[in-house]
Amino acid sequence: MTLVASRMARVQPSASGMAAMRARQLIAAGHDIISLTVGEPDFDTPDHIRAAGEAAIRNGQTRYTNVDGIPALKQAVARKFLRENGLSYENNQIVIASGAKQVIFNAFLASVDPGDEVIIPAPYWVSYPDMVRLAGGEPVEVKCPAADGFKLTPERLEAAITPRTKLLVLNSPGNPSGAVYTRDELKALGEVLLRHERVGIVSDEIYEHITFGNVRFESIAAAEPRLANRTLVVNGVSKAYAMTGWRIGYGAGPADLIKEIVKLQSQSTSSASSISQAAALAALEGPQDEVHRNCSVFERRMKIIRAALNEAGLFCEEPGGAFYVYADCSAYIGKKRPDGRVIETDTDFAEYLLEEAKVAVIAGTAYGLSPFVRLSFAVADDRLAEAGSRILSACRKLA
Ligand code: PMP
Repeated sequence: MTLVASRMARVQPSASGMAAMRARQLIAAGHDIISLTVGEPDFDTPDHIRAAGEAAIRNGQTRYTNVDGIPALKQAVARKFLRENGLSYENNQIVIASGAKQVIFNAFLASVDPGDEVIIPAPYWVSYPDMVRLAGGEPVEVKCPAADGFKLTPERLEAAITPRTKLLVLNSPGNPSGAVYTRDELKALGEVLLRHERVGIVSDEIYEHITFGNVRFESIAAAEPRLANRTLVVNGVSKAYAMTGWRIGYGAGPADLIKEIVKLQSQSTSSASSISQAAALAALEGPQDEVHRNCSVFERRMKIIRAALNEAGLFCEEPGGAFYVYADCSAYIGKKRPDGRVIETDTDFAEYLLEEAKVAVIAGTAYGLSPFVRLSFAVADDRLAEAGSRILSACRKLA
């Protein structure tokens, strides 16, 4: 006897969530583990945003809101898109949700019919394929090697499109690669998509505000305006404003799709938290200096970890944004650990780093491109430097 539906066999628990949990368990058991598995900024939510949340509680903004979000926040989102992305949306083209994750999940549920294919460039954020499967669709993974900067090329896109293709998922800056698409690259992908009128785009822009050096973020909906009417742009406050726990994300796109996403919310969550929406409003409309400051902290840390990894023979591309490096561990595949066991996969390598270096990282298999490991640098500088030297000495013990 089981109460579990057969659909659940089609999905896995989030691999990054599992790895992070394992690291937390070891830390709780007293082990000196440095966890580089985290998918959230280690900064606190800025004070003025927290104050807005407190004020919302005191002012009695503690009831259900409109399913699609409070009008003031929807207007702030519209202003954000116009100001930062040059994108203009009507009120019925915007939805506020409990995180970008919920927008993406509901978007798949609302658009994917059984057997529809969704193109997902790999390496990808772990949740996309499982969400597509839950919606009854078929994820089509397209491997985008390091030589292509982990980015989808027009050729690979064209080759992956079939009559069943419903959506393309783009994620820039990308998790786990940190890859950021340039305007020209987006235009080139756009040319392919313009030839295939039935293919929609989900553009996950949650790391928009975390970019390094001269790298400029661009949305495909702005780079190729003719695609805007079939692109769902997804964003939120989690990463830019260190607000992961507040659970506010938003989506903007075709009114008919937004309407169905709102319908799903009306039958599931009703609305995102009223208090968090008030805080998100303060985030979008308030001072942005902490966003910029945090970004330069991330850039400094990126350089610390990258230098250490390259010294350890774990080559990684310089990420253009987000707070991860995706390090190539092929140099250690086939090597022997001090206990004689052979490292055969990136999962074995991640396991070795956990046991020998006491550093938790996530194996590339979770992201659809091996042999790599993902390391988050949303960790204090000294811990990051310590992790780097532990990894270096663990790697030196491999023969
Ligand atoms: N997209 C990507 C690529 C992410 O890495 C994450 C968070 N790990 C999300 C979406 C979800 O963000 P939110 O907290 O807004 O649900």
